[in-house]
Amino acid sequence: MISKKAKEIPPFIVMDVLEKAQELERVGERVIHMEVGEPDFDTPECIKEACFRAIREGKTHYTHSLGLIELREAISEDYWGKYCVKVSPDQILVASGTSPALLLLFSALLEPCEEVILSNPYYPCYPNIIRFVDGSPVFVNVMEEEGFQYLPEMIEEKLSPKVKGILINSPSNPTGNVMPVERMKRIANFSPFIISDEIYHGLVYEGEVHSILEFTDRAFVINGFSKLYAMTGWRLGYVIAPKEFIRPMQKIQQNLFISASSFVQWGGLVGLKEAGRDVQRMRETYDQRRRFLIPRLRGMGFRITVEPTGAFYILANAKRFSQDSYRLAFDILEEAKLGVTPGIDFGTNAEGYLRFSYANSMENIVEGMNRLERYLKKYE
Ligand code: PMP
Repeated sequence: MISKKAKEIPPFIVMDVLEKAQELERVGERVIHMEVGEPDFDTPECIKEACFRAIREGKTHYTHSLGLIELREAISEDYWGKYCVKVSPDQILVASGTSPALLLLFSALLEPCEEVILSNPYYPCYPNIIRFVDGSPVFVNVMEEEGFQYLPEMIEEKLSPKVKGILINSPSNPTGNVMPVERMKRIANFSPFIISDEIYHGLVYEGEVHSILEFTDRAFVINGFSKLYAMTGWRLGYVIAPKEFIRPMQKIQQNLFISASSFVQWGGLVGLKEAGRDVQRMRETYDQRRRFLIPRLRGMGFRITVEPTGAFYILANAKRFSQDSYRLAFDILEEAKLGVTPGIDFGTNAEGYLRFSYANSMENIVEGMNRLERYLKKYE
C-alpha cells in the first residue's frame, strides 16, 4: 500500500535520540541536550520586528516564486560584500529553508541513476534527498587525520560520465571543520557541478572562509538563515545557481511550494542588513564554548585530531570507549542524561565517533561534561 520511496527513506537518528530524551524529561529527568543542531539563541529582535511590521502592513500574500526581489538583491550584495563575487538576483531562488532548496536543486540536476559525490561522514539528508529524486550518492571516505576533508585524488578516482555533481559542505556538519582553500580550488577544477552547502558560513572562528563561487561558476550554492541568524523555525533558505537552472527550479517551486513565506522573507532581509552585531555576539559565544569543549573532551579520552574551527559541532573519536556509537549514545543518555548524536547517523565512516553540538549554554555544557566524566569512570 505504501510507496517504496516512502518506505525506504531512512529516519534521522538524531531525532530518535531527541525523542528518547524527551521521554526521560516527561518522567521528570533533566537532560542536557548536545545532540541537536540548532542555535540555542533567540532570533535577533530586529528580524522579529521586521516580520511583525510586514504582517501589520499586510505583506501576507504570495511572493514572486523566486522570492522577493528586495531579498534576492540583498543576498547578491551579501555575496559581493563577503566574497567579492558577482551574483545576479536572477540567479537566486528563495525557498522555505535550505532543505527544500536541496530538493529543488537535485530535482533539476539529476536524471535517474546519475551520481553525486559526497564525503562520508556526511549530513544525513544529502544522500536521502538524492535517492528520493532517483539519483545515486557515491561516497568518498574522509579521514580524521585529514580533518575529515576530501583528498582531491580520491574524488578523481570516482569521476565518470555518470557523476553530475560533487557536494562540499564547509564548515561541515557533523565535523565542524573548514576546508582548506587549496583543496577547494582543486575541487572547483573538476568537471561536474560543485554543490556547496554554505549554511554554516559566518560561523568560523579561526582563519578565513571562501565561497566556491570565487573559484568556479559551474556551481550551486545552498545557504540559509537557520544557523547564522538563529532562524531554524522560520524556514528560510536559498540556492544560487547557474542561470539555465533557475527557470527549471522555479517551475518545480511553483508546483510544489509556490513561494517561501512572505513575511519571513521580509524578516530575513532585515537580518542580512541589520543583524551584524547580533551575529557577532553569537559567534563569539560559540567560540568561547568551543574553546572550553575541545580540551575538556580530550581530557576525558576522546580523540580530536584536527581542531574544528567552524559551525557548532565537534566529531570526537570515541573508539576507546565503544565501537558501537548508537549504543554508546543511548547509554550516555540513559545513564548520564546527556544527549549526544551517534556517529553512525552520519555514515559508516563515522562509526565509533560521537557528535557534540555546542549550541547550548555554557552552564549546560559544563554540567553535561561533568556528567559525561562521571559516566566514563566505568571505562577506567
Ligand atoms: N545543511 C546542513 C549541513 C545542515 O546542518 C542543515 C540543518 N541541520 C541544513 C542543511 C538544513 O537547514 P534548513 O533546512 O533549516 O535551512
